[in-house]
Amino acid sequence: MRKWVLIGPVLALLLVLVALVLVALVLPWRASRSAPVPALSRPPSPAVAPPVVGADGIGDPYFPHAGNGGYNVTGYDIQIRYDPPTDRLEGHTTITAQATESLSRFDLDLRLPASAVTVDDRPAGIHQDGGKLEVTPAAPVHAGVPMTVRVDYAGVPSEIPGGPGVPSPWVRTPDGAVAVNEPDIAAWWYPSNDHPLDKATFTITAVVPAGLQVIANGALLGGPEPAGPGHQQWRWQETEPMATYLAFVAIGNYDIVRRDTRFGLYLAAYDRGLTPQVANAARTSVERTPEIIEFLSGIFGPYPFRQLGGVVPDAPNLYFALEDQTRPVYSPAFFGSGQDVTVVVHELAHQWFGDSVSVRHWSDIWLNEGFATYAEWLYTERTGGPSAAQTAAQDYVRYPANDDFWRIPPGAPGGGAEVLNNAVYQRGAMALQALRAAVGDQNFFASLRAWATERAGRNGSVRDFLALVKHVSGKNVDDVARTWLFTPARPPSPPG
Ligand SMILES: [Zn+2]
Repeated sequence: MRKWVLIGPVLALLLVLVALVLVALVLPWRASRSAPVPALSRPPSPAVAPPVVGADGIGDPYFPHAGNGGYNVTGYDIQIRYDPPTDRLEGHTTITAQATESLSRFDLDLRLPASAVTVDDRPAGIHQDGGKLEVTPAAPVHAGVPMTVRVDYAGVPSEIPGGPGVPSPWVRTPDGAVAVNEPDIAAWWYPSNDHPLDKATFTITAVVPAGLQVIANGALLGGPEPAGPGHQQWRWQETEPMATYLAFVAIGNYDIVRRDTRFGLYLAAYDRGLTPQVANAARTSVERTPEIIEFLSGIFGPYPFRQLGGVVPDAPNLYFALEDQTRPVYSPAFFGSGQDVTVVVHELAHQWFGDSVSVRHWSDIWLNEGFATYAEWLYTERTGGPSAAQTAAQDYVRYPANDDFWRIPPGAPGGGAEVLNNAVYQRGAMALQALRAAVGDQNFFASLRAWATERAGRNGSVRDFLALVKHVSGKNVDDVARTWLFTPARPPSPPG
């Protein structure tokens, strides 16, 4: 056995020498093969990039803390249980998302207190402050990899103010509630990446006391369905990308009207608490939805969704209508003195401008409100009323040069407090009339259709739209845009 003891080290030495020679031969070859590829041209592997903390804002100039950085949401599965007498809402929402960078921590927008969060079924650390829910996953999530985030939460939405001295946007009704507002409502009933830039699909399930109805966006998957003693659930689904502020829920005693139309299933809901006069005026107006969509699709191109309708809650404290996707919600106040078709035209025009094509940042709000207001003028023009040019001229005269109205340039209103300023609507519509006069009807309407169809389901900015008009018309519209959209003063003459 000793001989093998001597032969072993000699063999080992030989093997090492052979290995060294091989390495010496192969290394230069490898180096020469890899040399032409500059190291920097290879993207770093996402799996090895050091994890970072996701930004607590998506980058909106007017609302720096709106939305979050580091991930894109693909879908929301919102499940709530709501008790009207106490206004207590209990939620379990599952978010499917994809990280855009490796994250050691990220934020969701939620104002109701969260009790537990899991990321890919593993409990995560949470901290909640100022409308942000900070989530620290058990292990970093990697860029490009899908993740599932489940959030358990509960609270009383009407007790959570909209800001210092601002009441809660959550509206209680005599027998239920309605979640409807712009730009902030999501955080009062579900966790989200709360900015129009991150659109996603939605399923919304609500468990409520038996006998109540629940209306939300898109298709009714089921309801009322049994959901434990004394309760029923309603399930809704919106499969087209939707901005977070456009997701809504209305809970109460509703009469539901439905019928098939060539645009999809029409479903409208009227609160049984409305007075007979208001209910009648509301129905007379909202039931014209299919006809008005027919009218608008003749101008803007195909209706972008597969459901349509409207909701009129018994909510005396709701002072506006909102273009909730597929199914706008209307304050009963619009119908207090008879029918109002104009508001229906406005909210339905938003289905193209605002809902299907959403703002990139809130500073682009002219693309929503200027366009929906101009749709009202077009409706008037084509149903025997004054032309849009005449309406624009009347509005121009209504505001003298020293009126504050002209201080707000609709293409860049200046801040979050101004995005829903009247000037964004009225002067915004005048700006469209000015563009129409500058490029001619054919180019103008071709631009509106191209905007709605080419960007369906996505986002766009004011600059993007102006570039499109320039492209479609072949005309320079810089002067018109500067005068009507970006100058805080009254233009020298009415538009076109
Ligand atoms: Zn509007």
